Amino acid sequence: MAPVKLGLVGIGKIARDQHLPSLSRSADFDLVAAASRNAGVDGIANFASTEAMLEAMPEVEAVSLCMPPQARHRAAAQALAMGRHVMLEKPPGATLSEVEHLAGLAAANGVSLYASWHSREAPGVEPARDWLKARRVRKVTVTWKEDVRHWHPGQDWIFEAGGLGVFDPGINALSIVTKILPFPIWLSGADLTFPENRQAPIAADLSFAGPNGEAVEAAFDFRQTGPQTWDIDVETDRGTLKLSMGGARLFVDGAARDLPPEAEYDGLYARFAALIAAGESEVDLAPLRHVADAFLLGRRQVAEPFLFDPAAAP
Ligand code: NAP
Repeated sequence: MAPVKLGLVGIGKIARDQHLPSLSRSADFDLVAAASRNAGVDGIANFASTEAMLEAMPEVEAVSLCMPPQARHRAAAQALAMGRHVMLEKPPGATLSEVEHLAGLAAANGVSLYASWHSREAPGVEPARDWLKARRVRKVTVTWKEDVRHWHPGQDWIFEAGGLGVFDPGINALSIVTKILPFPIWLSGADLTFPENRQAPIAADLSFAGPNGEAVEAAFDFRQTGPQTWDIDVETDRGTLKLSMGGARLFVDGAARDLPPEAEYDGLYARFAALIAAGESEVDLAPLRHVADAFLLGRRQVAEPFLFDPAAAP
């Protein structure tokens, strides 16, 4: 099959760090255009908006949207209505309902919608899921603590309404947990800590329950300096499992398992190509639903104001 001609939208950190390198390696896609208000990609056609790109280039068959979630629905709806396949960065949108609207639009227009979850492509995730299938889970402990100033420098959108705050990385943990556990979980309690000058939380402590008394505890924090932690620990009736480094490493009863190297975004683009070829969509909203539940049920705590550059404080 000829490579699918693709347009990349929202040329920021993740587009440059992951999407452009993966697309340059992909035999499934041919990157022919980019759309971004203030940035561009050398050697291809550049536009200021998704709509302008798709109107000028009817040959673009698919778009991959890398802008923040608050801006994603508009561009995705335009692309789907114009008959293009769409891949969404995580989280797939700012609300559950807008993503459901996109799924309906994709079906109505006969194109594929792929709500991607890059952490599910981490090399430890599939083996962890297999190992857990034959065991009884007792307790899951998620520790997802990183330095927002290091990983998201100056990204004010993350602390605006719809930016998800610490759930921007935390939803990656939830995407793994909802993939590897062989049973559903639901939120039973949450504490969300908001800086007094921001609209989204900088830390969150969550408790989930499962159908047979399983307990899932998650601690997310954006204020972690020094060592960074992206761990999921699972206690079962027959041993323990640990995913660390966001799923890049897997330990069973303390012993490291051999895993292939990390290739999350290569995996995402392979999946998007397979969905397009099969005429299917994949939209799993479970991780975003748990985050929405945390905003519904969570108790609000207030912390000191947060500034990306503390030296800029008045
Ligand atoms: P970013 O560096 O801020 O880049 C996003 C780009 O989107 C901006 O540079 C901007 O480019 C464009 N944009 C369009 N509408 C925007 C708006 N209303 N506000 C701000 N920017 C807007 O962000 P990012 O880190 O790449 O994250 C983008 C998405 O990727 C998020 O959903 C995030 O969760 C996901 N992601 C990020 C990472 C990471 O490590 N950073 C990892 C995995 C996934 P123009 O101004 O040129 O339009």
